[in-house]
Amino acid sequence: MNAKQKSKPLATLSLDLDNQWSYLKTHGDPGWESFPSYFDRLIPRVLDFLAERGLRITVFVVGQDAALEQHHAALRAIANAGHEVGNHSFRHEPWLHLYSAEELKTEIAAAESAIQRAVGARPSGFRGPGFSCSPAVLELLARRGYRYDASTFPSFLGPLARAYYFLTARLSSEQRTERKLLFGRFAEGFKPLRPHLLSLAGRNLLEIPVTTMPFVKTPIHISYVLYLSRFSPALARWYFRLALALCRSAKVTPSILLHPLDFLGCDDGVGLEFFPAMDLTAEHKLAVVSDCLREMTNHFEVLALGEFTRRFTGEADASDSAAGRAGHAGDADRPGVAGEQCEVASVGTL
Ligand SMILES: [Zn+2]
Repeated sequence: MNAKQKSKPLATLSLDLDNQWSYLKTHGDPGWESFPSYFDRLIPRVLDFLAERGLRITVFVVGQDAALEQHHAALRAIANAGHEVGNHSFRHEPWLHLYSAEELKTEIAAAESAIQRAVGARPSGFRGPGFSCSPAVLELLARRGYRYDASTFPSFLGPLARAYYFLTARLSSEQRTERKLLFGRFAEGFKPLRPHLLSLAGRNLLEIPVTTMPFVKTPIHISYVLYLSRFSPALARWYFRLALALCRSAKVTPSILLHPLDFLGCDDGVGLEFFPAMDLTAEHKLAVVSDCLREMTNHFEVLALGEFTRRFTGEADASDSAAGRAGHAGDADRPGVAGEQCEVASVGTL
């Protein structure tokens, strides 16, 4: 690493590995119960794309996918390429915050063990499906030795995104009730953008929010940029550049989120037409994603979230951090797993 690279501010990059079935399920569409998958097409494309750019990121994996033997080779390829594998729940239900304490524990633990069996490493980071989160989720993560959570989405536009989703979905009234907080409340917009330590159950848990536009809190994750690119690719690129420039001036560490459908186009035959920007070709999408990631790497040192957490909390675990890898079996039994010497920047903000 040269001096110029060292002097860059930090950013993080992650991919929520939502599978075809989980989109159908959240949307209330039939057929998801047989767990249709696009991993064969998606994962080699994503791994090649990241390798060409020298990026090692966090991939949040859904436990149900990790539990299926047929996905093990693809998931292992992600870990073998040096990416961190995080926990994205077992059933990918964005109403996780409605679970009982027992159900929540079963959900998180089942995903953990399925992921560990599939990739050989226990996750140390979590992102709730559909940004669902609650104080109970955070406390459970801290108790289980997680180092970070990345579920908050500080945006005022959650209710608007939900209204759009309901408009396009065929949901029963029960399904609507379960999804009534999908993408969060308006008040989410008041949550902090900067990563901050939470003190829970006698331990520290780093909260790494999904970054939104500083000040106005509009979404800047890549799916949203792709949606803008339907109207004008130049506008979309300008919007993302502006977001990163504002992050630099406001000293916000951008945590940028990718989705599988950022890499799959209408020409890939995966359906899911209800998802915004699914009328674009893969070539169009990959060009926009490539521009966005180039803009990121030009101005920031881009890390997996686990590696960022280690640097934020001052852990000197260099041998383990080289690849930004997960894998901290046994942490759940150790008190104070992260940031023992570090000042608590912000406590109990969720
Ligand atoms: Zn997801």
